[in-house]
Amino acid sequence: MKAAIDSIESFGLVDGPGIRTVVFLSGCKLRCKFCHNPEMWAIGKNNFTKKELVEKILRNKPYFKRNNGGVTFSGGEPLLQIEFLLEVCLTLKKEGIHIALDTSGVGIGRYDEILPLIDLVILDIKHITEEGYFDLTGQTMDEFNKFVDSLNLKNKKVWIRQVVIPNVNDNIKYVEELNDFLKKIKNIEKVEFLPYHNLGNEKYKKLGINNPYIEKEVMSINKCNELYEHFINIRN
Ligand code: SF4
Repeated sequence: MKAAIDSIESFGLVDGPGIRTVVFLSGCKLRCKFCHNPEMWAIGKNNFTKKELVEKILRNKPYFKRNNGGVTFSGGEPLLQIEFLLEVCLTLKKEGIHIALDTSGVGIGRYDEILPLIDLVILDIKHITEEGYFDLTGQTMDEFNKFVDSLNLKNKKVWIRQVVIPNVNDNIKYVEELNDFLKKIKNIEKVEFLPYHNLGNEKYKKLGINNPYIEKEVMSINKCNELYEHFINIRN
């Protein structure tokens, strides 16, 4: 069995603890207006066997051991290539590798099978209301909600990521509602706010894909930090 992998980063420092090998699987069902990786939307050519990928990851095992690192599956949306992901994670689990899953929670099911193999879930919150979620992603929240149900059932550690976008969710009301919304998700260890940037604009141009945020201003880092401080204050 082969999977479509866009790229592999050997020394990732932000997608989970320690030094990590980050595997970007291509394919995504969402169309986030703020996406800076539109080249990963389509599932590309299958280019890696399970054996090839596992061997590549295991080459970095000495670094993982020294730095409490591991592997992170990201994308695109790694849950779309679930059969492959299950097989690879099963093998890596036996090798004692720490496995993180960076996901929007919008896959094609089998969440109860994959989550027991995962040590940390890095979950993107697109929006907290049905209306806002649909407007930003073009999808309903149904699949995300199914994933969150499995996440709670399996009691996994969670890091939350929220992109903060000008005139969409850069306000106190949203931050306070986000705080309430996150009470539905168990075992949250960390919440990050990421300011919207437009570094993906060139990619849309090159790919000839319509960019709904072509005119969008970037998010002020200071304002994003202020909102984060407010969030931390009400959370504690
Ligand atoms: S889930 Fe990620 S890869 Fe998919 S459209 Fe949204 S930001 Fe892009």
